[in-house]
Amino acid sequence: YSKMNGTSRIAEYEAHMQDIFVKKIRLENDLQIALEKEELSLHYQPKVNMSLGTISLEALVRWNHPQLGMISPAEFIPIAEETNMIHDIGRWVLRQACRDLKKLQQAGFYDIKMAVNLSARQFLDKQLENIVSHIFATEKTSPSFFVFEITETAIMKEPAEVVPILQKLKQRGITIAIDDFGVSYSSLNYLNRFPIDAVKIDRSFIRNISDNQKGEEIVRAIISLSHQLHLFVTAEGVETEEQVRFLLEKGCEEMQGYYFSRPVPFEQLPVVLEHVQSLIARWSK
Ligand code: C2E
Ligand code: MG
Ligand code: MG
Ligand code: MG
Repeated sequence: YSKMNGTSRIAEYEAHMQDIFVKKIRLENDLQIALEKEELSLHYQPKVNMSLGTISLEALVRWNHPQLGMISPAEFIPIAEETNMIHDIGRWVLRQACRDLKKLQQAGFYDIKMAVNLSARQFLDKQLENIVSHIFATEKTSPSFFVFEITETAIMKEPAEVVPILQKLKQRGITIAIDDFGVSYSSLNYLNRFPIDAVKIDRSFIRNISDNQKGEEIVRAIISLSHQLHLFVTAEGVETEEQVRFLLEKGCEEMQGYYFSRPVPFEQLPVVLEHVQSLIARWSK
């Protein structure tokens, strides 16, 4: 009886792995044409600087698959990396973000900064600088409005190659932020080795605020260390009022998370920006 049970579990597991495999192949194929078929779009999530009262935005890519519905970037960006589609997608994301930023500027939001995410493959691509400057030139956008968010793991892949790449991007006026800061084993080790401007504390640390004394101490220490190294600090995944209060008190410059807004399509930005402005006003009282 128990043996049969074990055998059927294995069969079930194999069927499950088969499903995952089939889905992956399918996504790989469909992603090739997703760009042409205009199935990708950008959502925008505000990043809020409470003390200055300013708002910036992070562009987050979305894939609306005709049969499978919305597919998370956490699922398709790794596939895009493996298949090299990431380069086309990355170009499209930056161009679209430039265009949307221009629309916002024309609507009177002159000082909004725009963050885009770069994965390891994009970042280590020899053509990156050319691609980026070509897009900024043809879209007539100033790179100084842009923040590039790069994960720790991307930077740690080829530490020696990374420094000159970062320097070139910075010379163009682009701000460099380390995304998901703190999750890798070497987080503290590279802080002073790379020319970066900002860190985004990973959501897993922010989650511990207000229910875990040691967790709070870690966030406090990351903020204070970053400040000593003259780095700008953003907290990601801020969901509660307690977290906002704690982060304000510890001098964290910028916050982002569902407390302020989820990522939204471009069309919803006027409403969302107004909502965030009212939150800033409430907290500054
Ligand atoms: P990320 O850059 O660290 O983005 C933060 C993720 O956390 C986003 O998920 C966002 O929707 C989610 N998030 C924001 N606030 C909260 C919160 O308060 N609570 C919780 N639980 N989650 C929150 P999303 O949009 O699914 O993106 C996942 C990841 O995919 C991103 O992580 C980024 O690494 C990658 N990604 C997204 N867009 C792009 C892109 O255009 N290019 C590249 N290369 N990667 C991208
Ligand atoms: Mg990011
Ligand atoms: Mg992040
Ligand atoms: Mg993340």
